[in-house]
Amino acid sequence: MERDVLVIGCGLSGSVIARRLAEQGRHVEIWERRSHIGGNMYDYVDEHGFLVQMYGPHVFHTNSEEICRYLRRFCGWKDFRIDSGAVLNETYTPTPFNFTTVDTFYPPEKATRLKEKLQAAFAGRKMAPVMEVLQSQDEDIRGYAQFLFENDYAPYTAKQWNVSPDKIDPSILARVPLYFSYTADGGIRDRYQIMPEKSFTAFFEKLLDHPNIELRMGIEALARLAARDGRLWLDGAPVDTPVVYTGALDELFGGVYGPLPYRSLRFAWKYSSEDSFQPASVVAYPQAEGYTRITEYKKLPIQQGKGTVYAEEYPIPYVQGQSEPYYPVIMAESKEQYAKYKALADRIPNLIYCGRLADFKYYFMDQALERALERALEVCRELL
Ligand SMILES: Cc1cc2nc3c(=O)[nH]c(=O)nc-3n(C[C@H](O)[C@H](O)[C@H](O)COP(=O)(O)OP(=O)(O)OC[C@H]3O[C@@H](n4cnc5c(N)ncnc54)[C@H](O)[C@@H]3O)c2cc1C
Repeated sequence: MERDVLVIGCGLSGSVIARRLAEQGRHVEIWERRSHIGGNMYDYVDEHGFLVQMYGPHVFHTNSEEICRYLRRFCGWKDFRIDSGAVLNETYTPTPFNFTTVDTFYPPEKATRLKEKLQAAFAGRKMAPVMEVLQSQDEDIRGYAQFLFENDYAPYTAKQWNVSPDKIDPSILARVPLYFSYTADGGIRDRYQIMPEKSFTAFFEKLLDHPNIELRMGIEALARLAARDGRLWLDGAPVDTPVVYTGALDELFGGVYGPLPYRSLRFAWKYSSEDSFQPASVVAYPQAEGYTRITEYKKLPIQQGKGTVYAEEYPIPYVQGQSEPYYPVIMAESKEQYAKYKALADRIPNLIYCGRLADFKYYFMDQALERALERALEVCRELL
């Protein structure tokens, strides 16, 4: 099969583009450096029989009916509302923080007074950003927000981004909500919250199952592909056919403007013979040594089995070739640096870049999917 398009990366972005182009009659070859499909959404059944996600907990959420329709073409999906919590001062509370949190950390009389004050101060509102609550004129209300800031948000964020807790500016928490009732929503407010009936990997198997798609695993594309002098080079020769690139843009350009900053993660996998390890599927431990949160896969979504499996999540530095680039560190400086790489990429007409790495954005899955479909359209229109 002669190749029309080369796609680098077999995550959601690369796979969705490949599928769309294949359906347009194009022959697509995908090169993926990992030994599995699905990018960071990859899941598998572990030795204890639990379906676990290798790169951390993923739940698909979107407000778009069209995106749901697209997903359902490839497998069945079921509704699933994730539950989450946090352990502060060795005490568990569900999150996002709500009136249960107040009851948990305050004696009954104080809790009643604080809840009344919150309801009066934020009358008619279900929630407010913690930032706003921190600025309240009322000392008790401010004290509550301050307690959460000092014991949860600041230490969690400090660990996540490797900065000292006193350097955390409350403004970065501008959108984190505090609820003024007992009902919270697990922190996700999108209309559709779904999980594949079988697994994310099974979804990818169907997505990639097309006679025009050829999959080549274990290939580090940058050992053969380079971008310089305003064009792409493959095995040392210039290439003019379309290349879809979903890896990190700085790596493609040999880091000429320096490495873009990412944060990485290490997962410590644990098995317990207990039926349940923690009250919710994802629990934050802001005050724990090293790790930020623990995901208990038995609860994501609910699975039957003997014992339970969970993973502690340790934020670690990203070093190219040694760890995975999980989260782009988006700051004024890195945005400027990225813009320089983007300007180089935009000068190469047959280079189509997209995805959370190439766009240097924190995309949720629905955003990555939407963007991939748009980019596929552009490839068809402009290049093929
Ligand atoms: C811990 C964590 C939890 C998340 N939870 C959620 C969630 O609950 N809900 C949600 O909507 N989103 C979540 N996300 C975001 C979600 O993972 C992304 O939106 C989605 O995976 C993006 O897909 P992608 O294809 O752009 O990137 P990726 O999944 O990173 O895929 C890129 C692929 O390209 C390959 N690649 C890169 N460079 C090269 C190269 N040089 N040669 C060959 N192959 C290469 C990589 O190996 C990888 O397989 C989470 C992300 C993380 C990190």
